[in-house]
Amino acid sequence: MNRRSFVKAAASATAAASAEALAAPPAAATLETRIVRLNLQHVWTTTMSSSQYRDTLYTSFTRDGITGHGEGAPIVRYHEDAVSAQKAAESVREVLLAADPMQFTKTMAEIFRRVSGAWAAKAALDIALMDWVGQKLGIPLYSYFGLDPRDAPITTFSIGIDTPEITRQKTREAADFPVLKVKVGLATDEPTIEAVRSVTDKPLRVDANEGWKDKEEAVRKINWLEKHGVEFIEQPMPAEMLEETRWVRSRVHIPIMADEACQRASDIPKLKECFDGVNVKLDKSGGVLEAYRMIAMAKSLGMRTMLGCMVSSSVSVTAAAHLSPLVDYADLDGNLLIANDPFRGVLVEKGKLILPRGAGLGLTAA
Ligand code: MG
Repeated sequence: MNRRSFVKAAASATAAASAEALAAPPAAATLETRIVRLNLQHVWTTTMSSSQYRDTLYTSFTRDGITGHGEGAPIVRYHEDAVSAQKAAESVREVLLAADPMQFTKTMAEIFRRVSGAWAAKAALDIALMDWVGQKLGIPLYSYFGLDPRDAPITTFSIGIDTPEITRQKTREAADFPVLKVKVGLATDEPTIEAVRSVTDKPLRVDANEGWKDKEEAVRKINWLEKHGVEFIEQPMPAEMLEETRWVRSRVHIPIMADEACQRASDIPKLKECFDGVNVKLDKSGGVLEAYRMIAMAKSLGMRTMLGCMVSSSVSVTAAAHLSPLVDYADLDGNLLIANDPFRGVLVEKGKLILPRGAGLGLTAA
């Protein structure tokens, strides 16, 4: 074949391939978004809110006979609610449906570029996509990230702010968990810890959810907590009070973790002098991919890492659990706080996270 006939043959082969591509439409993809009401087993109180249920955004992405499930819990602190989350997800429906789902990094970057805020919506789309990709590849999500499920840490069980009597009852109900996380930050901090301590002497981790506005008070409380067997304190002061937090950190012995001060990977470098570690949540970061980048960023700066969650079902909690072999601490109990979880995924045995071995997130219907 001379050069001219080769070019001609190649051109007609390309034309035939294009004609074939035009004749066979791409496998139709579908996206479903819906708001699901998760009912809490106990009224859940923190410094930010008190409620009996949470409305969360669910997504299902289907293509090639595979359905990936996603979930995002709208965070009130970031001015999100389920209705606006659903709207944000719907606004990028065509981007997702037109994309090659195996090009998930490119697709999510485009979604992040188009949607400002709406982290729960982004998380719900990212998680559905990553569940789909894992199923398409036939591997659990932890394998996609090269992780060993046996390295998954124990998770704490969270005790919300309540009366001493209910706090004692909740502490008794958490007998299976070797470490508890206790919410403080209101006027009742000491009675809350004393109520827990009247039931158990197991290690505690404490979350003040930005509750202490005065740095002297924060130092006093943290040093008091240390004497009561507290391993670390999460977000003692408001997120914007970085200088004060740095001052506090230099006067206490237990680690201080950033939660509200730390939403995305790019937030982390400026926190290095003020905090010992970061609490990463999929609902804050906008999904698994950004959460992975946050963990990598924190580790590269020599900071401790933690995976947390909002009140949510097994979809979101399982997605986070697949990254948990990477982190020092886990607080992945959101699904254990609700009464109507539609799925089963990660399990907890004596506090240890047991990752499902199925492809993708490895979810099954409850
Ligand atoms: Mg927190």
